[in-house]
Parts: sequence; C-alpha cells; structure tokens
Amino acid sequence: MAGAGAGGISGAVLDAVDRRLLDLLQRDFPLNARPFAAIGERLGLPEDEVLARVRRLKSADKGRLIRQIGAIFDTAALGYKSTLVAMRVLQSETDRAAATINRHPGVSHNYQRDHAWNLWFTLAVPPGEDLDTSVQALVDQAGGYPYHLLPALRVFKIGVQLDMEGAGDVSPLDSARGARPTPAPVPSARDRAFIRELQEDIEIVPQPFAGVAERLGVSQEEVLAWLQEAKAAGWLRRFAAILSQRQAGYVANGMVAWRVPEDRIEKAAAVAASLPQVSHCYQRPTYPDWPYNLFTLIHAKSREDCRAIAAKVSQATGVSDYVILFSTKEYKKERLKYFVSTQEVMTSKSHSLYADAQRYMPGGVNSPVRAFSAVGGEPLFIAKGEGPYIYDVDGRRYIDYVLSWGPLILGHAHPQVVSALKEAAERGISYGAPTALETELAKRVVEAVPSIEMVRFVNSGTEATMSALRLARAYTGRSKIIKFEGCYHGHADFLLVRAGSGVTTLGLPDSAGVPEGIAQNTLVAPYNDLPAVDRLFSENCGQVAAVIVEPVAGNMGVIPPEPGFLAGLRGLTKAEGALLVFDEVITGFRVAYGGAQALYGVTPDLTCLGKVIGGGLPVGAYGGRRGIMAMVAPLGPVYQAGTLSGNPLAMTAGIETLKVLAEPGAYERLEERSARLADGLRAAAEAARVPVFQARVGSLFCTFFSGERVVDYASAKRSDTNGYARFFRAMLANGVYLAPSQFEAGFLSLAHRDEDIERTVQAAEAAFAGMGG
Ligand code: PLP
Repeated sequence: MAGAGAGGISGAVLDAVDRRLLDLLQRDFPLNARPFAAIGERLGLPEDEVLARVRRLKSADKGRLIRQIGAIFDTAALGYKSTLVAMRVLQSETDRAAATINRHPGVSHNYQRDHAWNLWFTLAVPPGEDLDTSVQALVDQAGGYPYHLLPALRVFKIGVQLDMEGAGDVSPLDSARGARPTPAPVPSARDRAFIRELQEDIEIVPQPFAGVAERLGVSQEEVLAWLQEAKAAGWLRRFAAILSQRQAGYVANGMVAWRVPEDRIEKAAAVAASLPQVSHCYQRPTYPDWPYNLFTLIHAKSREDCRAIAAKVSQATGVSDYVILFSTKEYKKERLKYFVSTQEVMTSKSHSLYADAQRYMPGGVNSPVRAFSAVGGEPLFIAKGEGPYIYDVDGRRYIDYVLSWGPLILGHAHPQVVSALKEAAERGISYGAPTALETELAKRVVEAVPSIEMVRFVNSGTEATMSALRLARAYTGRSKIIKFEGCYHGHADFLLVRAGSGVTTLGLPDSAGVPEGIAQNTLVAPYNDLPAVDRLFSENCGQVAAVIVEPVAGNMGVIPPEPGFLAGLRGLTKAEGALLVFDEVITGFRVAYGGAQALYGVTPDLTCLGKVIGGGLPVGAYGGRRGIMAMVAPLGPVYQAGTLSGNPLAMTAGIETLKVLAEPGAYERLEERSARLADGLRAAAEAARVPVFQARVGSLFCTFFSGERVVDYASAKRSDTNGYARFFRAMLANGVYLAPSQFEAGFLSLAHRDEDIERTVQAAEAAFAGMGG
C-alpha cells in the first residue's frame, strides 16, 4: 500500500498477507475459542504464523500499527450520554485549556483544529450524571470560553475501518445503525464485569478468551455466549482490531461540516457515508454562529486527498457550503473505558468535592502537585488516615506512600503524637511567647544533627531555606547563590529557578512573577556535577554567598549524591569562602536520625529542616554553627520572625515524633522494609520487562520509568512520564497511593508492615504486567 510508506510506518513494510490479515482483523474477528486458527484457515496460514504476524503488527518495530484488538461497545446503548463540544479558545491558551479538559476521564478525543472554533472534544458521562452540567463545569475550569454542545442528533455512519488493500471496497460499517433494541437493556452488574474485561486488549495467544474467562471466573463458552448476547442487546458494536491511523498512513484527519437544507440531509448523508474514507457521519444541532448541521470525518493520506474527497461529496450532493477543519494537534485520543474505577470517580464524593473546591481555590488545591495534573484523573479527597493507610471520602482505603509529602514517618495519627497533641491543645493553642517545648525540640535537633549548634524554628521548609540564605548572604556579605537544577527549596522568588517538584511536574521552566533581577543572583549547576560548580565559582569569584543543595535530591524523583559530590562541595565552598547549605527538609530525620549529613559524613555550615521535625504540623527550622546563627535577630542584624513560629502544638508533634524515632532499631526497621519494597518493585518491573530505574536512599524511593541510570535533572526528565502515569493509575486502582508525579519521592513509614509491602508489590506486579513491552 503506497500510503503505508508515505504516512510513516517507519521502516515497516507490509506484505500482501499482512494487509489481508489487517482487513480481516478489522472486519470480523472470529468469536470462537481459537480465533487466530480460524483466521488462519481463511488466509491459508497456520495458527502460529497468524499469531506471529499479529504480534509483529502490534510491536514497536511495526510502529504499533495495531493499537488494540477488543470489544468496541456502543456508548449510548450502555446508558452513557455523550456529546461533541466545540470551544473557541484564545489561541495561546489552547494547550492549557486542553490539559484541563483532558483531566476528565470521560473525555476520549480532544483536538485542536484550524478554525475559530479551535478546540473540539468529546465527553461521555455514565448513567446518572447530567451531561450539560458536566460540560459547563469542565468549560468553566478550562477558562470559561464560548462553547457549543454538538451531540449527534442522527448517526448515519460510525466506525473506522481503514482500507489496507487499497481496493476501496470496504462495506460501510454500521451504516444506518441496523436494528438494535431501543432502548437497549441496562447492563447488570455481571454484564458490567464482562464489559470491563472485554474492552481491554486481548492477549495474542491461541485461546485469548481463556484468560478473560479465568479472570471472570466463568467458562470460555460463557464469555463467547455473552459476546453474542451483547451484540443482540446492542451494547457491542463489534469485536475488532483498531489500527493506528497515523501509522497506517492516514495522516490527514479532516472534519468536514456541511450546511445542508433540512429536507436534503438524509440524501446528502447517504452519499457521504457511502465513501470508504468517510468514517463517521452525523447530524448535529446548529447555532447562529455555527450553521453546519452535517458532520463527516474524513481520513486521508494528505490534506489534498481530504479536500478532493470533500469536493467529490459536494459535487454528488450539490451541497457547496462547507468547511474543512483539519486537526493541528491531537491532545487526546483514547478509547473510552466503561464501568471502570475512573468512571466511578465521576459520581464519587471526591469528584463533587473537587468540583466545589475548584470554584473557590485555584485548581481546587493549595499545592499544585496535589491536583493530579501529571497523572490524569482527579485528586482523591481524604477523610482520614490511620497508620500506613489513608481513606478517601468514598470509603476506599489506600496504602499511602506520600505520607503528607514526607512528614509522617511514624504513619498517620500515631497514638503517641495524637494524645500529646490533644493534651497540648487543651492547654492553649498558641501563646506567641516562649515555652519549654521549643527548647526541648531545639535540644533534640542540636543533639541529632552534626552541623547544628543553634536552631531557629519557622513554619515551613520555604521559610527555612529563604531565611538560611538571607543569613548566608549577611554572613558572607555576598549576593549570589548556587543551586542545582531540579532541586526544590520551597517557593521563595530567588529559589524558583529551574526548580524541581511541582515546577518540574507542571513542566514550567521557572515561575512567572519572579523579576529577572532577582533570578540573576541564582546560579544553576547540574546535580552531581562538581566541575560545573567549580566553573561557576571561577566565573563569579568572590560573589557567591552559598551553595544550597539537597544532599539527596528528592524533588526530581530520588537521586542520591554520587560518591565524592557532597565532600567536593564542602571543599569548594570552603576554598571560596562561601557557605555550604544542606536543604535537609526531606532528608532530615528521614535517611538517618542525623540526616544525610550523618549518613554521608559531610558537615555543612547551615542546615534547613522541615517535614519530619513537625510530625505533620507546620514546622521548619534552620540552624548551624553558633557563630553564624548569632547573626539572627534579636542577637544579630538578620531579621526573621513568625507569628506562629515555635507554637506549642507544632513543637509537641515534633518532639513526640523524634522520641519514637530515637528508639533503638527504628531506622533499621525502616531500612529493611524500604529495601524489600524497592527490591519488590524492581523485580516486578523486570518480570514484566518494563524498563525502570529503581532509586532508593533509606525510606525514600522512586521508580523512574527509564532504562538508564538517573543521576541528574536531564536524565530524570528523560523518564517516560506517561508510563509513570499509567503505573500510578493502576496502583491507585489497586489501593496503593503513590506520589502523583514521576518527579516526587515516595516515602515509607514505621507503620508500613510486611503485609502492606507485599500487597504493594503484588499491585505493582499487576500494574507492570498490564504495561509490559
Ligand atoms: N526544601 C525541600 C528539599 C523540599 O522538599 C521542600 C518541600 O517539599 C521545601 C524545601 C519547601 O518546604 P515547604 O513545602 O514546607 O515550604
């Protein structure tokens, strides 16, 4: 087929048998116990050759020409309501609007098109949900642009079948929508279970329905009989292969909208639908600024071909008023999955709480990564936490590896912490005057962390780093600081330069709103790259106040320091008269009781703490040598203050947490369980042949979807974030709550028991198996 090469099956040449096979697979996949043998009989091939060819056509070296073989269900017959929506978005905002829209699990297609109505997406909602309200809410979230609902009023043709043999004699699929019972019966719970299984890609094995039957706990005959029933009920449109249109060479996807006089619509539709290149043909409503009532989707190998086909239809129908909207960007193209947990999301309490939250708070959250934008779907709203588990407002339990982003090293609601907090609260919540609790926590910090002789408590990690660097600048009388690409030190202006965490998750190079003059004093080197730091020092001789580093990078996944990196920084800073600042907001009391500086034996001048030292309440701290800390007000001239700094509740949670951590064996237990988890995850990925790089330092871990060793921001960014997103969703569906971004650390607590780790590894085995290469 000429188009195959032209369209781009890179390096993949199809022979005549491949093409006949593809046509058969798209047309009528045999619904019997040995479907590939049956296809083989028709093609005169043995079963194993059919299997081998299908596998090849699905493989990466054939550009995954076959996307999926499975049941294609009828959205309406299953009780789903769906519509096409046309939006008119500011051109510069289409990416952003599309990203918001794509978060909805019921959006299956979303394209940018070259027209004033430039964003076109389809939305389907399950039985019981109101379509208009859902669209309105989604459009509001996406920026409130003008939109039109364009549901199909009549369907004249639906279904994509690509003509692989070029004869152009493909019989129209489903044209005129044959007889299906109207209304279709409502699928029972049993039917829904069958639908959930059968909408997935079948295994390319001699008996592909055997696995389905096993998972459903029924016989293979029952599965095949159910498929026939589903056809009769109108739920099942067909069981067939779906090809990648781009890979098949059909690169031009033109939506042609026609303005047809009402009385000629059927005739025009019949003409258009008779053409094999027209995959879909619908009648849709019109609006004063959108007068086109007949829609055809044309798949062609070039825009010219597409235009020629449209001209042919125009000539044959006598309809000359039409527009062709080519897709200029494909934002989403997925099969809609029916009756799966993501759909449940839409009727869940979390969903309605999230909708409400978005009305009052930007993105519905108070910290960006929480919004799940990097992994799709919607955030869960949490009702309670207990030990290693969190429970969402819909009553589902998850093994939690986020742990409030690290502070909960004892797990949720540790009884000792909770009871001390209750008692403290009864004595008053805050005084804004000194308490013995502050000294007690300060003493514990000084005793534990090698570099700290004096400490100042603040309310967050952001305050800690910001204040520590103000102090470093005052102490050295210099302005510049060196940070590392992909390290995150909170959201102070001058630190939001090539930062990790949410800044990386959202794909932002830096934050808007940071004046250039401020960012100019921040120099950036790649993590683990000592020569680069050396160069920055030479280029900025005598001007660098401090080097700030996460001694284990925890905001671009987890990246340990290479041997000699931290010691090298110590040497360089000393030689240059700059201070070395360890941001141990994540690593402090996490990778060891004394933090990363104790683990690696490198002592910085200043240390920033947060997370664990507050045991879940807002606490940050910075500390260091007495001689430096003496510069902080009121002792010295560096001003820094806080209304709620050192408040009794926060101090209490910190003290109780450190007491438990100081018990013998605590870190050994964390280490042993974390090792088991990381080894289990690595083995699960290996068994499924999914390339991952499993990183871990103590109870910090990260599964990079990457076949290479990850050592810095550049290598972290090469990870397959879509792969991570799929893994994340599969784990969530199996009751494991991981960080909703590839670029965040996973955390383990003392509350995670062996059985939790075993269940997590089992969930990972299932998740990886579903994505094996
Ligand atoms: N430093 C590091 C290493 C962090 O990971 C974080 C937050 O994740 C911060 C600083 C900022 O802390 P906070 O979010 O408490 O302001």
